[in-house]
Amino acid sequence: MISVAIDGPSGAGKSSLAKRLAADLGFVYVDTGAMYRAIGLYAVRQGADLHDAAAVAALLPQIRLDIRLEGGAQHVYLNGEDVSTAIRAEQIGMAASAVSAHGPVRDFLLETQRSLAAGQNVLMDGRDIGTVVLPNATVKIFLTASAEARARRRCKELQEKGQPADYATVLADIRQRDEQDTHRAIAPLRQAADAIRIDTSEIDFEQSVALLKRTIQEHS
Ligand code: C5P
Repeated sequence: MISVAIDGPSGAGKSSLAKRLAADLGFVYVDTGAMYRAIGLYAVRQGADLHDAAAVAALLPQIRLDIRLEGGAQHVYLNGEDVSTAIRAEQIGMAASAVSAHGPVRDFLLETQRSLAAGQNVLMDGRDIGTVVLPNATVKIFLTASAEARARRRCKELQEKGQPADYATVLADIRQRDEQDTHRAIAPLRQAADAIRIDTSEIDFEQSVALLKRTIQEHS
């Protein structure tokens, strides 16, 4: 079985690239950020203090997550409700970043993530896939881009969806999320020693697809 781990900061293009590559290579795409987002969504709905590890951990027994592949796309069900769209809100991304710093939350998701990689070829994206979840992944990629390049892309995406996008706010959010994700005590975002670093600041989507495809094929 081939497993490709793609880690990197938010907005580096991991999920759109991983989706496309999985389709082209015939792999299953596993989006681990969506799982943290579902927990963030639940915690927000319950009015929990997202930075209180014990309060968030107390919610975990009430949460049942189902990850289903429907029409080639990953859907996340939170206690039976398809939350695949609701978890995409900016506020929920920030909530995911806060709850993902807590050890019990990470432990809660680890087995689900590992079992998805057993028995099928996967392309899994996240922050700690190459370092913690799949330390023996066939290929590890650390996908990054400057905060400015990521903010520009995110603004464009929001505008295309007809949502308000203020560059300065988006850039500040990206920086805050980077700070939270790289400085947390447990499973911080960092490049695995054996990961291949790819910076997409100066290349477009199709060039990134080609570069990643070549990298994966050369190493698997
Ligand atoms: O990738 P995405 O932006 O959907 O992830 C949301 C948040 O979930 C990230 O900011 C990060 O804090 C957390 N996350 C994580 N570990 C992963 C995937 C996501 O901590 N493997």
